Amino acid sequence: MSQFTFDTIGLIHSPYKEKFAIPRQPGLIEDGGGELELIAPYNQPEAVRGLEEFSHLWIVFVFHQTMEGGWRPTVRPPRLGGNARMGVFATRSTFRPNPIGMSLVELKSVETKGGKVILKLGSLDLVDGTPIIDIKPYLPFAESQPQARGGFAQDAPLADMPVSFSEVAQRQIGQHQQRYPHLQRFIQQVLAQDPRPAYRKGESEDRIYAVHLLDFNVRWQVKNGITEVIDLNSV
Ligand code: SAM
Repeated sequence: MSQFTFDTIGLIHSPYKEKFAIPRQPGLIEDGGGELELIAPYNQPEAVRGLEEFSHLWIVFVFHQTMEGGWRPTVRPPRLGGNARMGVFATRSTFRPNPIGMSLVELKSVETKGGKVILKLGSLDLVDGTPIIDIKPYLPFAESQPQARGGFAQDAPLADMPVSFSEVAQRQIGQHQQRYPHLQRFIQQVLAQDPRPAYRKGESEDRIYAVHLLDFNVRWQVKNGITEVIDLNSV
């Protein structure tokens, strides 16, 4: 047996509506949580019985938005500035022989009402609509390894880009305060990671970037080493 077929058991609902600017791992920012909704025939409350007793889960998913790109034996991790090559299996690149990812996420609650089974999750690194193929509880006794070596990714990536908000952006954020009380913090933390591709970082500073977060098209510009959020418009 060398080929296998797996079913999608659920879908991710995430504030990240496109790949650009998504944190590279879960838990890197405070906000950016979402939901995992199980789909039939896996959306049975019995299938998640006992899961609420775990604080964290492994979710196993398909990199469905990059799978057509295939794979190569070496990749250039963004962490190394996009220059050095590492073996694909030494990285978390999305371009893998089997386009499967795994994220360790906080489980905030399990909701099983109205024929739906929904897992409320903490800070994600997944694009909206990501297909989930398995869920497993995180087992601290076996999986917590504080002494582990992390290779070229030993330390958390820097997220120290200063971010300011124009008056327009601040006013727009204020208008959505009730629905999204942490909207400013969310945008600030996403952009503090400086999601621009490495090859653009030394370029002219006139370029305006945009990303679809939640219901908004967020536009920003980098000037004198500071990210300024220009505005956010509902999409
Ligand atoms: N934690 C997982 C892992 O280690 O397998 C994923 C790490 S991967 C580096 C995270 C990045 O994958 C995100 O920053 C985003 O750009 C990209 N991504 C997220 N969801 C995706 C999807 N469904 N298809 C393709 N790329 C995705």
